[in-house]
Amino acid sequence: MSSSHVLVLNCGSSSLKFAIIDINSGAEALSGLAERLAEQAPLIKYKHNGSKQCIDLNAGDAHQVAIKQLVKLVKQLDLAQNLIAVGHRVVHGGEHFTKSVLINDNVIDAIKQTSVLAPLHNPANLLGITAAQHAFENLPQIAVFDTAFHQTMDKHAFLYAIPYALYTEHGIRRYGFHGTSHYYVSTQAHKILGLSHDQSRVISAHLGNGCSVAAIKNGKSVDTSMGLTPLEGLVMGTRSGDIDPGLFSFLVNQLNYTASAVDELLNKKSGLLGISELSNDCRAIEEAAAQGHPQATLALDIFCYRLAKQIAAFVVPLGGLDALIFTGGIGENSDVIRSKVVNMLAFLGLNIDTDKNLAARFGNQGVITSQIQPCAIVIPTNEEWVIATDAATIAQEQ
Ligand code: AMP
Repeated sequence: MSSSHVLVLNCGSSSLKFAIIDINSGAEALSGLAERLAEQAPLIKYKHNGSKQCIDLNAGDAHQVAIKQLVKLVKQLDLAQNLIAVGHRVVHGGEHFTKSVLINDNVIDAIKQTSVLAPLHNPANLLGITAAQHAFENLPQIAVFDTAFHQTMDKHAFLYAIPYALYTEHGIRRYGFHGTSHYYVSTQAHKILGLSHDQSRVISAHLGNGCSVAAIKNGKSVDTSMGLTPLEGLVMGTRSGDIDPGLFSFLVNQLNYTASAVDELLNKKSGLLGISELSNDCRAIEEAAAQGHPQATLALDIFCYRLAKQIAAFVVPLGGLDALIFTGGIGENSDVIRSKVVNMLAFLGLNIDTDKNLAARFGNQGVITSQIQPCAIVIPTNEEWVIATDAATIAQEQ
């Protein structure tokens, strides 16, 4: 085996997703998830050579312990000597980072400074970085940012119409997220459809637990639906997406909500869950709607309407449409949502092909409209692959 493996770490507030990827073949030598970290009964689930295994951790064990166990596992499986780099997903790079970077003290300081904009995510990402630096001190560590792809947006797209000093003094602006996914699927769409990088108009819809749409002109993000935080934009599993900001003072003044209760309401209790009063899980909502559950049906209707409206709005910055990409757990699997949304966008020249739409599920990619120009296409995302290849490229430059 040649030394061509990258360890990819995606450290969440209570979880750690990991993979070891061979950048020559794209194969995953190891993949897994440590979950319920710092809670009761944390554990690591992993897959190696097709077999699935579990390691139980002690109650309260957190990221450092999980990473130590991961290092032990990597060594036991004889995978350590092939590693050339560690790639870290970092959620918020603010305006500091327009691309992936080799981690040094300045980078760590900038990620820390940006934590005010992503208080749940960046500190967890930093835990992963520090633990991996200790565990793999001889390997280059690379940070790959969710926000970096959207740093090409112009001011007219990223500024809110609020006092300008809030931007200059506090960095309050739209940043956008899911950049690694939007970058990956749009790059794939260019290859698959033979689009020219000088003249392409692509809209990518990443629809998972979090949902966002990006308008991508000539390979560059020109607008995206998420903003200062991942709450803006589309209806999501538990997030409201766009609301009238006047709701905030109504909830506080009339219903005695605190600021954190409003935050919790909009981030954790809204979206598909809030409307359906049933579940945040799209599959469960679709099943209930198919059995006639009125609020599940309404949740799907609102989700699709808002999504179609956002996609149509992004035809403005693009000046037309060559391809609409669906990705993420919902985008890759829900023929129901895709056909509803594409039908609402028929005026753009998109016509769903029912057979192709059913075929492009469960990991299968493909065009789902009857024509190619413009088309809607399903492309499974692969953020780990982007992180691995960026990390390998930067490591090889050292
Ligand atoms: P992700 O965050 O990308 O893992 O996506 C999670 C979302 O994808 C959840 O809402 C799932 O219910 C949804 N999902 C996964 N498979 C399907 C499916 N076959 N049909 C509809 N939604 C699905």
